[in-house]
Amino acid sequence: MGIYELLGVRPVINAAGPLTRLGGMPLHPDVLAAMREAAQQCVPMELLQEAAGRFLAEVTGAEAGYATAGAAAGLALAAAACIARLDPAAMDRLPDTSGLRNEIVIQRPHLNAYTRALRLAGARLVEVGYLGFPGQGITWPWQIEAAITERTAAIAYAVQPEPRSVGAVPLDQVVAIARRHALPVIVDAAAALPPVENLRRFIAAGADLVAFSGGKAIGGPQATGILVGRAELIDSVALQHQDMDIYPETWAWRERFLETGRLPGPPHHGLGRAMKVGKEEIAGLIAALRRFLALDHAAERRQQVAQIQSILDAVADLPAVRSTELRDDPEGGWPVAIVRLDERALGRPVERVVNELLAGEPAIAVSQSYLHLRAIGLNASTMQPGEAERVAQRLRAVLGAS
Ligand SMILES: *Cc1c(COP(=O)(O)O)cnc(C)c1O
Repeated sequence: MGIYELLGVRPVINAAGPLTRLGGMPLHPDVLAAMREAAQQCVPMELLQEAAGRFLAEVTGAEAGYATAGAAAGLALAAAACIARLDPAAMDRLPDTSGLRNEIVIQRPHLNAYTRALRLAGARLVEVGYLGFPGQGITWPWQIEAAITERTAAIAYAVQPEPRSVGAVPLDQVVAIARRHALPVIVDAAAALPPVENLRRFIAAGADLVAFSGGKAIGGPQATGILVGRAELIDSVALQHQDMDIYPETWAWRERFLETGRLPGPPHHGLGRAMKVGKEEIAGLIAALRRFLALDHAAERRQQVAQIQSILDAVADLPAVRSTELRDDPEGGWPVAIVRLDERALGRPVERVVNELLAGEPAIAVSQSYLHLRAIGLNASTMQPGEAERVAQRLRAVLGAS
């Protein structure tokens, strides 16, 4: 008996994209094979992390890298590293940051539901800029500069699609300000893939720490992420994340940190110990990343477009469908289909359709990112072969029925 069957939960056809609440993505057999192999033998985790970190650094052009338990964990660790640096007493104190440089400056248009990950490390957010007028709202570079004090630990920057990015100070200018004050810039690039080029883009632009999700476009295990950046900050991340139930004399990193005099002694379990990453996850992340780099992304896109176009074609003539639209901007993430509904003709609100699709047979999850347009969205990046026909059929039945 399968594990879902044993537990009595029904798997869904995921037409919404790699959302955490749907379990991310179905994993490719190559990723599963790597996880299976890693799961069967034990390995010193700091050495596995070091080796994985070298791979992540090479792929992103960063000095160093680290595998995290998701991008949100990466942001929390990034904040912890910027606050504690290589001070074991500070590491020991987090998330209590009294007496430490603990302020992180952030532009208001960059605030989102993940910003709190920075606060998890004890950071206090100093928000700057205005939302609303003129246009979408504007942050001026001088507002960022004016918010910097001797308590500032970092500047945070969130990569986000238009229109939310309009009016925000762009990354190159934020980096220039940070450089003038010798401050690190933390970039939330969790969902900035595709395009694959973005793996290197933010490091190349001068960011000091960049967090990506491993379980979104990369196709890794859902609870993985990548944190890359300056070697000294990644060292701080590692020290606050590793299991530190150790003796100095036998610690794998004694030469690097103790014999060089960089640390007076090993720190204890840090803040990141509560966000641990298993050997299986690291193996899966690396295998997924290798696959992501080798993938023919244009062909992948064409296939996804064909899948969602076939669903649009199947429902476009229904009276309940007001309009259909296919967005395919290689700079703007995945291709998505948007089906605007006529709720009067439909006889019920869009939200009901979302719920009916999920409760029906087969269970189908659609994107809720366009509910404000009274529309459902379709994303084929998480769909398996043959599922587009089943989604088209079921959607036609649900939208045809009143
Ligand atoms: C998904 C997301 C995160 C969190 O990523 P996880 O890998 O799920 O922890 C953070 N920031 C943004 C902008 C995201 O889209």
